[in-house]
Amino acid sequence: MVKYWGKKSKNPVLPFNPNLSLRLDNLTSKTKIEKSLSNEDEFYINNEKQNNDEVKKIINFISKFTPNNREKICIKSYNTVPTAAGLSSSSSGTMALVLACNKYFNLNKTTKELIEISKEGSGSSCRSFYKLASWLEDGSVEELSCSLDFGMMVLVVNEDRKKISSREAMERCVQTSTNFSNWVNQAKKDFIAMKDALKNNNFEKIGEITERNALLMHSTTETATPGFSFLTDESYQAMNIVKKLRNNGYRCYFTMDAGPNVKVLYLKEDQEILYKEISKLWNKKIIMCME
Ligand code: ADP
Repeated sequence: MVKYWGKKSKNPVLPFNPNLSLRLDNLTSKTKIEKSLSNEDEFYINNEKQNNDEVKKIINFISKFTPNNREKICIKSYNTVPTAAGLSSSSSGTMALVLACNKYFNLNKTTKELIEISKEGSGSSCRSFYKLASWLEDGSVEELSCSLDFGMMVLVVNEDRKKISSREAMERCVQTSTNFSNWVNQAKKDFIAMKDALKNNNFEKIGEITERNALLMHSTTETATPGFSFLTDESYQAMNIVKKLRNNGYRCYFTMDAGPNVKVLYLKEDQEILYKEISKLWNKKIIMCME
């Protein structure tokens, strides 16, 4: 709802701006670790063997907090979200992996320690430990609450793996985007305003901040060198549907993470009517995220 987009420091991992997210409990990752039957560490997502770069990335990460003399393992993970399509598979996948390691290696870490570990694998995963959470510039993670009952659905534009990973895209924007400092300054203001709106149960404000924050984040990709965009014509069509419905009095707002898919934020009490109205205008797949 207020994006994490840019690392201020890599060690420890710290964000440029405080950020805030809502966990989507229908969209999960389930991860199981077993002893490897080969002499290699192995990593599967949805039964698909991951390439060497992926295995290396994951093993480098878990080597930071698992025993040095560990046996070779086989990690089997199942994502209910499309992987690497801008629906935060990295956050849910990393959190699930950390929890699986904690169990398999009997690490007995506390939630606070697991949060710290998780962050080193995927910054945003530290927020996934809570339904509503923020990650601050000093690295701390705060659990938040709001009495509004949020709903979210995804207007699926493309479920394929994005061409540029979030990590690479973020890095390029930090290094080259001409409006990156503007993004950071505005995101800091958005964060304060969002916390205030959550406290006051002000859904209209929450929605407005969510949309403008997403659009500003995406504008940093356009001003990067080389410039790029995660958004496609169909992403804009989906955003226009949300705007049109809002003009017709429906309470709904859009947001996009690092990918083309458009998420619609609404109040659960409006879910049925919104689904009906959106289905009339969007003839591609819709994923319900919180039921
Ligand atoms: P997304 O928008 O889906 O978060 P990213 O480019 O940020 O896409 O991250 C995708 C990466 O997250 C994958 O290449 C993989 O390294 C990691 N990832 C995704 N799912 C899992 C999983 N279930 N377990 C471990 N890592 C995962």
